[in-house]
Amino acid sequence: MIKRFYHFINGQSVPSKSGEWINSINPATGEVWAQIPRGNRADVDFAVEAAFKASQQTNWRDNSVNRSEILHGIAEQLDNEHDQLIEIEINDNGKRIREVAAQIAGLSGWYRHFALALTKLEVEELNLDLEGVSAHLELIPYGVIGAITAWNSPLMIAAWKVAPALAAGNAVIIKPSEMASASTVLFAELLADVVPNGLLNVVTGYGDEVGSAIVDADAVKKVSFTGSEVGGSKVAATAAKHVKPSTLELGGKSPQIVFADADLDSAINGVMSGIFLSNGQSCVAGSRLIIHGKIRRAFVERLKEKLSRLNFGSPLQEDTDVGPIANKAQYHKILSMLDRAKKEGAIITFGGSNKNVPGFEGGYFIEPTILENVSPSSEIWRQEVFGPVLCVHSFVNKEEAINLANDTDYGLAAGIWTTDEAFGNEIASKIDAGTVYINHYRSVSACAPVGGIKKSGYGRELGPNAIRDFMQEKVVWNGKLAVPDPFAK
Ligand code: NAD
Repeated sequence: MIKRFYHFINGQSVPSKSGEWINSINPATGEVWAQIPRGNRADVDFAVEAAFKASQQTNWRDNSVNRSEILHGIAEQLDNEHDQLIEIEINDNGKRIREVAAQIAGLSGWYRHFALALTKLEVEELNLDLEGVSAHLELIPYGVIGAITAWNSPLMIAAWKVAPALAAGNAVIIKPSEMASASTVLFAELLADVVPNGLLNVVTGYGDEVGSAIVDADAVKKVSFTGSEVGGSKVAATAAKHVKPSTLELGGKSPQIVFADADLDSAINGVMSGIFLSNGQSCVAGSRLIIHGKIRRAFVERLKEKLSRLNFGSPLQEDTDVGPIANKAQYHKILSMLDRAKKEGAIITFGGSNKNVPGFEGGYFIEPTILENVSPSSEIWRQEVFGPVLCVHSFVNKEEAINLANDTDYGLAAGIWTTDEAFGNEIASKIDAGTVYINHYRSVSACAPVGGIKKSGYGRELGPNAIRDFMQEKVVWNGKLAVPDPFAK
């Protein structure tokens, strides 16, 4: 039985005005398991109207409804209902249950963090270098926020936008990826009695139909986008047309630099988790291993040995190590990039092919792959694969390591492995990336900003300014002295 999901607008589940549907394919089987509405501009207009009205309510803007309590209510509801969300997200994007369960169990924490952070926002008195006047800073919500998300971690990416945007006093319209919308829709439905109508809306559909209409809508005053460079640059162009700000969280080609003195057990585990968790479909995937020549051979052999023990299977099974790639388009993209890499001279020293998994013959499985002899000018070294593909290149000295790491259009994350803490920090200061991890990889915290430099995007999510990023500053001046006649002679 194919399940149908709906838009969630103004507190109600509604079908698309077009009456059209998009099939959601389970990547483990290749079969349709659900349908989502193919939204259009009319659906977006409906959501924008509801969101605008909700965002203008005085008690929401001035926080007399106590937004912090509402965020706590969201967290509580997530804690009660999170099991329902796990299977649905896995049906859509095939991520392993151990990873999805951890992410979804952690969702309430993001909402609680912002519930608390909101209570610490204050009207700020400004220290002026002027006499006879005082001034204070007020923070005002934008109104309606457009939140556009990717398919790899739909609910976590949404939380990073929705929690601070609501905390700031906005209404939100979320456009999840057409490849994995179901969990976001269910999330909004579960909150129907917690979040006042119109403040949290979900419109599903394609990026160039629903996403672009959200960015184009006059009443949407800021857009927070997570996705590809191509999508991000279109969003930024439309937002610029309306002179509205956008935050872009885009892709990466993150280096993992392993120095000869590294704790090799940790480094191997860190490199594995960096690129092979989530099948490499992670924005911070550590896809380029830049390793000292002296330890390269032994390091790669140990990696290969560990990879050879991983078992493929259903992402819903606790003991599965490798699930399917999230969707057919991504599966073909990865395989064709591997083909081109071989033509450009790369040597596949582990994996490199699709994988037939008994019982899941229609699924989109690909072997974890290691490529060596990779030229730093080749496509596979320079472009994001968003798949389980690790490219290896060795270096002889730290200057070469830094140059290799920084010779990329992206700058999202980087890993450094060395037992010399001062040296690790010295290298970190020379790496162009929004996040640098030394001797671990992948931590995220609501207290630490996330975002990229170069083509990995601009603006930040999370961190100490997360709520303020969804607010605008207004300075209110107070004169303390009589105003003199400006034309007095
Ligand atoms: P994508 O750009 O194809 O789609 C992302 C979202 O944007 C989807 O909801 C899509 O429908 C929408 N979209 C596409 N074109 C649009 C347009 N013209 N106007 C408005 N919306 C549009 O990306 P994807 O394939 O879903 O996600 C994978 C990419 O996301 C990778 O590059 C990955 O690195 C990146 N990503 C980044 C982060 C981060 O925090 N930096 C996190 C996760 C994923």
